[in-house]
Amino acid sequence: MTEAGATLHRHVAELYPICRSITGAGLRATLRYIGAQIPLTLTEVPSGTRILDWEVPPEWVVRGARLATLDGRTVVDFADHTLHLLQYSEPVDRVVMRDELDAHLFSLPEQPTLIPYRTSYYARNWGFCLPHATRRALRDDAYRVRIDTALIDGSLTYGECALPGEEPGEVLISAHCCHPSLANDNLAAIAIAIDLAQWLAARRRRFTWRFLFAPGTVGAIAWLAANRDAPQRVRHGLVLTCLGDPAAPTYKQSRRRDAAIDRYVAYVLGGARILPFAPTGYDERQFCSPGFDLPMGCLMRSPAGTFPEYHTSADNPDFVRPEAMADSLRVLQEIAILIEHDRPWRNTAPYGEPQLGRRGLYAEQDRMALLWVLNLSDGRHTLLDIAERAGLPFASIRAAAQRLEHARLLEPAAA
Ligand code: ZN
Repeated sequence: MTEAGATLHRHVAELYPICRSITGAGLRATLRYIGAQIPLTLTEVPSGTRILDWEVPPEWVVRGARLATLDGRTVVDFADHTLHLLQYSEPVDRVVMRDELDAHLFSLPEQPTLIPYRTSYYARNWGFCLPHATRRALRDDAYRVRIDTALIDGSLTYGECALPGEEPGEVLISAHCCHPSLANDNLAAIAIAIDLAQWLAARRRRFTWRFLFAPGTVGAIAWLAANRDAPQRVRHGLVLTCLGDPAAPTYKQSRRRDAAIDRYVAYVLGGARILPFAPTGYDERQFCSPGFDLPMGCLMRSPAGTFPEYHTSADNPDFVRPEAMADSLRVLQEIAILIEHDRPWRNTAPYGEPQLGRRGLYAEQDRMALLWVLNLSDGRHTLLDIAERAGLPFASIRAAAQRLEHARLLEPAAA
């Protein structure tokens, strides 16, 4: 296991036991954990606030929940697994007949040993999620239900880590953080976002990099409501999700399909596993809504719903692999290098070939890269254009451009 993989997996293991939701103490505890790794600004949006076409829901408080037989034997206890309780369950404290109870139980007949993940944020309900095998064993006429929760006038919380850049424009990286004990969806992406932010914080940056940790859907909508000028600022963006499973990386294109980010990710992934945009999935639904139309795609490994562990207790820290997470981080670092360094340059000596030997620039192994950069740096071609036309790696073209800039043979051209 690499050191990067071990660090990423440790973040997942630390965050896994917390009962997150779209509001509340678990969400705040998660943001506090992130804030201990990278500088994070928290925003609290009060319950009832109008946010675009939505409203911030009441804050969910959960102290405990237990389903038991009338003689006191536990059937399921929230203390054993956060998935046991239907998210946003309202409080209940009474004896319930088995028929009534059955309408409030959620299980997976096809996966009888797993606990499903279920929510009821906007329709008042209560319920328990349990292995189908446990449910099948319920034979009593009545059971004791005790759900110690509250729906209060509180707030919704999101966190932002903004790393300022030298030039105008932002890169927005977003990861949802509202799922309780689920590892791939989405603790792996949160862990990778933390490490990517640390890596970027230690480097010179052309753009401001903004990392947004918000509850899915309603958190992204709350952020967009407060950032109506996002289309003017955001030059590139990615939604990160499901980045820890063993499948190869997958990219879902932005709504625009031809944004620079779409090209960068396709280049890094070698053109493999590129999916077209669809108005489903994660918060790309909000960021790519037509009023905002941000240049944001979604980077993942296995897409949501395509792996059997998805939204079940099998999506646990054993399912996410340190090597896969380290690979996701490496892919993101390569994308970040393209975002930061792909730009047009201008050859300051465009009449004839400048004499490279006199400037100490003549070396057989990078001669082709130097010549291509000099020839195509007319202000119209970016370094990635040049790399693709020359059939050379972006890293070689970028290194050649750096050497030519030091030799004052290149100057930045307006993008
Ligand atoms: Zn999910």
